[in-house]
Amino acid sequence: MKILVPVKRVIDYNVKPRVKADGSGVDLANVKMSMNPFDEIAVEEALRLKEKGAATEVVVVSIGPAKATETLRTGLAMGADRAILVQVDDGTEVEPLAVAKILKGIADAESPGLVILGKQAIDDDSNQTGQMLAALMGRPQGTFANTVAVEGDHVTVKREIDGGLETVKLSLPAIVTTDLRLNEPRYASLPNIMKAKSKPLDTKSPADYGVDVSPRLKTLKVAEPPVRSAGVKVADVDELVAKLKALGIA
Ligand code: AMP
Repeated sequence: MKILVPVKRVIDYNVKPRVKADGSGVDLANVKMSMNPFDEIAVEEALRLKEKGAATEVVVVSIGPAKATETLRTGLAMGADRAILVQVDDGTEVEPLAVAKILKGIADAESPGLVILGKQAIDDDSNQTGQMLAALMGRPQGTFANTVAVEGDHVTVKREIDGGLETVKLSLPAIVTTDLRLNEPRYASLPNIMKAKSKPLDTKSPADYGVDVSPRLKTLKVAEPPVRSAGVKVADVDELVAKLKALGIA
């Protein structure tokens, strides 16, 4: 069984995003970019399934600018076998529906038994692509996965839901999206980083899958969150209670 893992190049989660002065978006100039953290978890899960003998090949795919090659090489260095870059112009933001349509085209060509995506990309926080892909492919989905087990022609997914875990059984091929507690992704070792440089990487375009990536949404405004005002120090509990009463909180 082949596993397809879509990985997105996003602003690194340690970086504090700065909004552009004209409010048109987040300033990405000279900012560290990395693989979306949920996608690292997806790559790790695919590799573990391969190591357990449940899969034979792990293919990572990214839709993005030429620089997304770095993200794909990270996936290859972790242990993926092969990569596909669906290249768009620098600065083009591909919305979840277009990403899902491209992934559907790749799935048609590659016939994976599982597609494992992140539950959301930390830049757009959409949480849509996996669900849209499942709908386009007409296949079952197990979202917010906490545990994934492949047995024969089905996959059992424990899903993180409010107040607990829900277990669902899906027939393969299926779509899974990862939650934070599914696993802890491995670091790529130096020899594996070197090896990744010679692993196959195919470059395609959205047109190869007949997908138009022009935006359907218009961003009207992006604003920084309000700055937190400084706190007040009180001398003792009595003063604290008096202040809370004065504010009408207690
Ligand atoms: P989103 O629906 O945008 O929150 O993204 C959910 C997941 O879809 C991500 O964690 C990735 O696995 C996948 N994905 C979204 N955009 C891309 C992209 N441009 N390239 C590859 N995978 C993507």
